[in-house]
Amino acid sequence: MLLSVRDVTLRFGGIVALDGVSFDVSRGVVSGLIGPNGAGKTTVFNVITRLYAPDAGEVELDGKSLLRTPAHGIVRRGIARTFQNINLFRSMSVLENVLVGGHSLGRSAGEREALEALDVVGLAPLAGKPAAALPYGTQKRVEIARALMAQPTLLLLDEPAGGLNHEEVEALGDFILRLRDERALTILLVEHHMSLVMRVSDHVNVLSFGRKIASGPPAQVQADPAVIEAYLGVQE
Ligand code: ATP
Repeated sequence: MLLSVRDVTLRFGGIVALDGVSFDVSRGVVSGLIGPNGAGKTTVFNVITRLYAPDAGEVELDGKSLLRTPAHGIVRRGIARTFQNINLFRSMSVLENVLVGGHSLGRSAGEREALEALDVVGLAPLAGKPAAALPYGTQKRVEIARALMAQPTLLLLDEPAGGLNHEEVEALGDFILRLRDERALTILLVEHHMSLVMRVSDHVNVLSFGRKIASGPPAQVQADPAVIEAYLGVQE
């Protein structure tokens, strides 16, 4: 097991954002993490990356606790993440933005490595373009290339399909599968775009109001009455 989240509880004042959440992620899979708005998905990412300390529970990577690793040590443990909102340096080129991902590790990553990361997301030809000039969906791919510079074993993607058009979502699905198959990456994917989640995930966990309500292969989870009710019961 690469990642193990066990009985994690986290409260914000009176809100129980995570209520005894447990799930495992095997090495080399795409693991979907879904649930209605406010279910606790981003909070799970923030616990794994040590931005939030849980009130109870344990998180282990490769059998060793992550909870004793400070937030700035998470990249060195092999975890990289992208965020819901784009966070690129607008005045810098695509290549420069990707190179920044290597600097966060405290090592100066070479241009060749950055170009390789851009190639994985299909953007090597745009390396010299200013990041701000790119369409939104392309900027999101630059962010993923930047995360790859940390050479993670576990990649956390927070709503990568948000704001993408149909073709961009298809391309995103293709390269998520390539990351898994060609780079042996393990990916934890938070996403509202259901057809993408169902297409690329090997396994899906479902949260609702901070609790895990279902876990299993995509088709099984999609047909689970508790999951259908959680989605239908929420006015989005
Ligand atoms: P979405 O799909 O809308 O992004 P989510 O499943 O990622 O939702 P979270 O952002 O993890 O949900 O939020 C879970 C709950 O915790 C919500 O009720 C949210 O308001 C609350 N919450 C999250 N972060 C904080 C915080 N820093 N302070 C107070 N409450 C918070």
